[in-house]
Amino acid sequence: MRHLIQTTDLDTDEINEILKKANAYLKEEATHTLKGKMAVTIFFENSTRTLSSFEIALKKLGASVVRLDVSKSSTAKGESISDTAANLNAMKPNAIIIRHKNAGAGEHLAKYVSCPIINGGDGAHAHPTQALLDLLTLKNHFKNNLKGKKIAIIGDIKNSRVANSNIELLKRYGMEIILVAPPHFLPQTRLKTTSNLRSIINEVNAIMSLRTQTERHDTQTYGSLKDYAYDFCITKELIKDKDIIILHPGPVHRNVDIEDEILKDPRCKVLEQVTNGVAVRMAVMEHFLL
Ligand code: ASP
Repeated sequence: MRHLIQTTDLDTDEINEILKKANAYLKEEATHTLKGKMAVTIFFENSTRTLSSFEIALKKLGASVVRLDVSKSSTAKGESISDTAANLNAMKPNAIIIRHKNAGAGEHLAKYVSCPIINGGDGAHAHPTQALLDLLTLKNHFKNNLKGKKIAIIGDIKNSRVANSNIELLKRYGMEIILVAPPHFLPQTRLKTTSNLRSIINEVNAIMSLRTQTERHDTQTYGSLKDYAYDFCITKELIKDKDIIILHPGPVHRNVDIEDEILKDPRCKVLEQVTNGVAVRMAVMEHFLL
């Protein structure tokens, strides 16, 4: 039984196949290839985009979706997550899509079920479908040619599952990655790092801005969001008329991560990422369910 816990669960040929299918779904209506299949979504952490994106993707393919309301589930009554999974599995779903605040939650559950587990984000560890949709957005913009292109990943990288998954995937496709953050947001890494965004802005072709993951901080780690924004917000003054694109997985902290004006700029791909997300998740669900 195969699961999608992290990007390395897919080889490059499989990813190319998924992205090709996703591009087709961006252009044409889906047929009901997953008719008769049933998927369970169980999100223990908040989500706006990922949950709805998976559910829309599954419904477009004709699958039925059961959303487990975690606040009303027996987890709130003290049932262990493994027991919840075993019980869900006994209802014979074709896939379980899970988000959890603990890194490794999906991998743990995989031991108790007989259907694919698709990771919708586990702690600071991985968010594979986000990285796939980011890859699609970048590949489509750069006409499939990512080799040697430079991307700055900016923000709370140490606590970001989006950064982790993208670092693996974008390196695989030949992108050069520069991590840009205050020292306490930088992970241990062999990649190029800097805390001075202005010093590298002229050399990058793309920016991936990330939200400060306050829910994963024990203490406040920056003087104030205003100070942080002064150094790391993507502003018109910073990018001027450069030939550059801006990505962000959302939710965006307006005027902290990206300024209002740039969110309206055609170089900003945030909403395109959301559209691509549905198409990528359609292709991913087909990959694991057919
Ligand atoms: N939506 C992304 C995630 O779930 C990014 C974020 O929350 O900052 O990881």
